[in-house]
Amino acid sequence: MDVFGKRHRVVGGLLSVAPDWYVWFWAYLLTTGSAAAVVYLSHDMWPRAHQAIAYGLILANQISSYVLLLSDPGIYPRRQPPDEPPPSADGTADAEKGEGRSYCRHCRLYRPPRCSHCYVCGVCILEHDHHCVLLGVCVGKRSMRWFVVYLVTTTLQLYAGMFFLILSFRRTPFEEDWKRLPPPDGAHAWTPEAAEAFNNHAAFTILFHLSVMGIIAVLMVPVTVGTVAYVLLPLTNTTWREAKRDGIHLRKPEDFRRHFWISQLFVNIHKMLCAGPSLLSTRGKK
Ligand SMILES: [Zn+2]
Ligand SMILES: [Zn+2]
Repeated sequence: MDVFGKRHRVVGGLLSVAPDWYVWFWAYLLTTGSAAAVVYLSHDMWPRAHQAIAYGLILANQISSYVLLLSDPGIYPRRQPPDEPPPSADGTADAEKGEGRSYCRHCRLYRPPRCSHCYVCGVCILEHDHHCVLLGVCVGKRSMRWFVVYLVTTTLQLYAGMFFLILSFRRTPFEEDWKRLPPPDGAHAWTPEAAEAFNNHAAFTILFHLSVMGIIAVLMVPVTVGTVAYVLLPLTNTTWREAKRDGIHLRKPEDFRRHFWISQLFVNIHKMLCAGPSLLSTRGKK
């Protein structure tokens, strides 16, 4: 097994994607399709001054989803030949290697603290948070920033989308409204054909609005919960694995106070944004 483990090589072997990357495709279709529908139905209602912000949001969401799919999540590459296993049979810790390093029996290497094996990708990942089965991506030290940008921009898109769809829905003329509207194309009266065409279009617009609003409503709660969690966790320099292992629940006031230091916020934000270079091109070739 090579440095990419079970991950698939893409772009001529330069990059890799998780084995379940196809899940990303469906998630991408869902979010991008909803965003496109919101643009189609309501873009003429957006305040002119805010259009740059709205399109910037969509662009940031697109870029973060591609980078999240294709970037190195923080793979700690195997060496050739592999490291010697520790003398203890359980293979968990080796005092000789010290500094909290542990041995991974799958990758056959000594890994630094906070590095864990991803069983889906088949590699050890620095500060491994989780393997996201809903997006088909691995979230670790180097991909966390893109995961956070993706979640935050998706949440903002959902709320803004719902807001403008409600406004746009309210102005959609319902059946029978045509009787109060002037006839189309400067004619003197509504013909039965024109009225039917109008009603069909109104029915289509209403159904389209309701379908997209339904999709957004279903996504809203889980995505919001995930976003709040993944804004708080990196700010406290804690991975989801560690929070689960150590029983940290940030909703408990005492845990929140213990892990949420104002003085550490900027240090943690900087650490997440500047996660360091990929080790694939250096350590992997030794
Ligand atoms: Zn491993
Ligand atoms: Zn993974």
